[in-house]
Amino acid sequence: ILYKASESRYDTMKYNRSGRSGLLLPAISLGLWHNFGGINSVESGRSMLTRAFDLGITHFDLANNYGPPPGSAEEMFGEILKKDLLPYRDEIVVSTKAGYYMYPGPYGEWGSRKYLVASLDQSLKRMGLDYVDIYYHHRPDPNTPLEETMSALDAIVRQGKALYVGISSYSPEDTRKASRILRELGTPCLIHQPSYSMFNRWIEDGLQDALDEEGIGSIVFSPLHGGILTDRYLNGVAADSRAAGPSVFLSENDITEERIAKVRRLNEIAAGRGQKMSQLALNWVLRGGRVTSALIGASKVSQIEDAVDSLRFPELTESEIAAIEAILKG
Ligand code: NDP
Repeated sequence: ILYKASESRYDTMKYNRSGRSGLLLPAISLGLWHNFGGINSVESGRSMLTRAFDLGITHFDLANNYGPPPGSAEEMFGEILKKDLLPYRDEIVVSTKAGYYMYPGPYGEWGSRKYLVASLDQSLKRMGLDYVDIYYHHRPDPNTPLEETMSALDAIVRQGKALYVGISSYSPEDTRKASRILRELGTPCLIHQPSYSMFNRWIEDGLQDALDEEGIGSIVFSPLHGGILTDRYLNGVAADSRAAGPSVFLSENDITEERIAKVRRLNEIAAGRGQKMSQLALNWVLRGGRVTSALIGASKVSQIEDAVDSLRFPELTESEIAAIEAILKG
């Protein structure tokens, strides 16, 4: 059956400006790191992507290496795009990245111009696109001059292969340097993609100040801490969860009693607000409007619905924030 987007897709989503740019991003974005690879069914990927778009999620985040196997998430995304979403291409913001290991040899990872240009060409081919909306350098490279990496990003924009550029997981200091170089080149840095959740608050220590000063937006990855900040693990490790699955980024060892005890207490605050734990975790990263977008992952359509539904709840109050703080410190 041919997909037709919902007429009401823009009725409830909130869109936030990314830094001092012209681009608005949905408060909730969807990442394809897990659950969209060669090991997953296209039908499940298709139902999640189309439902997300119907709910106003206009931004899909990819990287060269997402899968497994590496590259397969871009291939699946390309297949679904071609079948269902291509008529809506101009309503969609696609991002991809290069930085982590992608192919053998000295040019298949890190931050050289050689790698960034070739990897994007491969990504465009896999997705069947002429350009991506945002191209990221995926992680800092201590051995390549920042000038080279940034000028590669600038050149890619000038070639029309990306509309905007971003950086991921850069320190506050490197972020300021990269931002200065990009501004001088005439391609301002649109966005930074760092990790951020109730259990991982490194961006509060200088990065957020740097982003505000430089006028760079932020899209925070793993706001649910890979699923720990949800009701997923409150009653043991379900067989269909990420921790039980093949992901090396979350295993049963990460589901510690101490953490789950905290999640249980946080979940009481969520219940007091009439919401789910995952929704509290999303309201929390977006509190005060400092973060442009919360970048979630999902294995089921209902998880995407939960995330979008979180936006209808009121801002966290001072006392709720203080109560959360006490639990996290405790
Ligand atoms: P999250 O912290 O949002 O974790 C997503 C997982 O949480 C889901 O797969 C699901 O796990 C669980 N979950 C989500 N919603 C619910 C819910 N309502 N109830 C119960 N469980 C829920 O983010 P990810 O770690 O998946 O990362 C998100 C995106 O961020 C990635 O896809 C990628 O685009 C980006 N990213 C970027 C990185 C970078 O270096 N720049 C690194 C890592 C991620 P389950 O599978 O168990 O159902």
